[in-house]
Amino acid sequence: MTAYNTEKTYTLSDLGKLDFGGTPLAVLGHPVKHSVSPAMHNAALQKLRAVNSRFNDWNYFRFDVEVEDLAEALPLFHKHNFLGLNLTIPHKVQAMDLIQAVSADGERMGAVNTLVWDEFGYDGFNTDGYGLKTGLKGDLGVSLKDATVVLLGSGGAARAAAVQCILEGCKRLYVGNRTPERLQGLMETVKGMRGGECATAFAISELPSNLPEAGVLINATSLGLKKGDPAPIDVNLLPLGWKVYDMIYNPATKLLEEASMRGLSVANGLSMLVHQGARSLEIWSHTDVSAHVMMTAACHALQLPPRYD
Ligand code: NAP
Repeated sequence: MTAYNTEKTYTLSDLGKLDFGGTPLAVLGHPVKHSVSPAMHNAALQKLRAVNSRFNDWNYFRFDVEVEDLAEALPLFHKHNFLGLNLTIPHKVQAMDLIQAVSADGERMGAVNTLVWDEFGYDGFNTDGYGLKTGLKGDLGVSLKDATVVLLGSGGAARAAAVQCILEGCKRLYVGNRTPERLQGLMETVKGMRGGECATAFAISELPSNLPEAGVLINATSLGLKKGDPAPIDVNLLPLGWKVYDMIYNPATKLLEEASMRGLSVANGLSMLVHQGARSLEIWSHTDVSAHVMMTAACHALQLPPRYD
């Protein structure tokens, strides 16, 4: 039986039972039911199909895979010819040890979110840093090159952001986190990179003093995910030329609300989500992908007002 329903959440047991078509793609996560990736990717694929028939049998599915099942899952997806996989919580780090090759960026970021089928296994990439860089540029007009960046967090998303900041040649990078050990680990990675000497660690409760007039603050903590969460820092300590990007896109966060009230330019992480997805599809398809189409689909799936960028 062919699986046509790209809205459904499948499990590993569906892999042998259903035919997922000629060129299947999927996001693997747990929980994954609320992922908007299928909506974004299938909208982009529909657009590609309109101009190129080679995409006629490409579909993007959603699979709920628990953390302890990933090692068993990846060879199964490979056997069933899934050309590309996106990995989300909690698989991005664990997958590094289960695949045949990891890109240099993925290695530095310590995580992969995009896997590409190859005859002998999957190759891993990380498109989160690209998504952030492109989102910052599109939403806030911020180029990371020569920028002063204050980055909050030291988890997977913060690692990707920190590595991207250094790769892009930022001027100063201040990284703050609640737990010093995790911050230390991130700093070791960054300091080992060329240009990493511009990075400084701080305790998240004490924003660096003497910040320049302009810069960008990026929240990569999960504080704000729950309604009612406070902002991770006091935005009144930021000079008025600063811009604020919160990787959280749902719900609206206190950080962005307070920064906006202070008159700072703000943006949420929807653009990062869309651009990391667009980059994944470009890696799989070797063709340009419309981030605009993916943004429209993501807004629709999240029941957010449409955006016209
Ligand atoms: P993670 O690995 O679990 O890291 C969570 C981070 O948040 C850690 O630095 C943690 O600090 C910090 N944190 C958690 N609760 C906190 C609190 N009460 N006060 C201060 N800091 C706190 O998660 P992740 O994968 O890096 O994701 C981080 C955030 O980015 C999430 O909100 C996620 O939704 C978002 N994200 C967005 C995108 C996108 O495309 N827009 C992509 C990836 C992630 P400790 O080390 O002290 O625990």
